[in-house]
Amino acid sequence: MPFTADSPLVTDVVLSPNHEPRRAAIDMLLLHYTGMESTDEALQRLASPEAKVSSHYLVRQNGAVVQLVPEARRAYHAGVSSWDGETDINSRSIGIEIANPGHDFGCPPYPEEQVAAVVGLCRDILTRHAIRAERVLAHSDVAPARKRDPGEWFFWRELAEAGIGLWVPPHPAMPGRGLAPGDSGEAVLALQQSLARYGYDLVPTGTFDAKTRDVVAAFQRHFRPARVDGLADPSTLATLDDLTAARTARAS
Ligand SMILES: [Zn+2]
Repeated sequence: MPFTADSPLVTDVVLSPNHEPRRAAIDMLLLHYTGMESTDEALQRLASPEAKVSSHYLVRQNGAVVQLVPEARRAYHAGVSSWDGETDINSRSIGIEIANPGHDFGCPPYPEEQVAAVVGLCRDILTRHAIRAERVLAHSDVAPARKRDPGEWFFWRELAEAGIGLWVPPHPAMPGRGLAPGDSGEAVLALQQSLARYGYDLVPTGTFDAKTRDVVAAFQRHFRPARVDGLADPSTLATLDDLTAARTARAS
């Protein structure tokens, strides 16, 4: 093996050349899909010096876990991103790439074996690092305008049931209009403040602009996936309120 795996769940070690020293302590776990039809091609890309991308782990569809970068090192998976005022997400996070072809290939489901392996790996990582529940995030959470992974069909509920991440049951569709692009005023300001306080990269302005829509869509992908359209309908607003309350309850 090119280096000693950090987790006993690792079945294969393939060293990626794409890593460097961290500039901050680990306090985030970031989940991705590979977005490629072939897992082997995704693995090759994550280990290619030209691509300049990498992740700490890749979980195959059959549940096999490959480690590419030691956890102590900074891998290149987040790109331009931001959470809770921090922009060097790579320095603070462990990145897991989960083999799934993604939106461009019809959003195929994550197989059961793969879900179980990701649950196991996350639990194992969380025993070794102090990562708060609300900092187990999607790539789309930290880069809402650029990224959609790991997708609105991702298994956040299963992770939460295993004690991983902060998640609340989404509210079903409710009557009413809510807030939409072009709206402005106190209610929009309150929505933006709520999303920004949770960690999303959004400056509250009181105007529902394109950036607000991207962030609302990212929130929906993770927390209210039944409809991802960036419109803050009543069910989205109610789910955000529940999530904020759950976070406050944890913090106190
Ligand atoms: Zn990603």
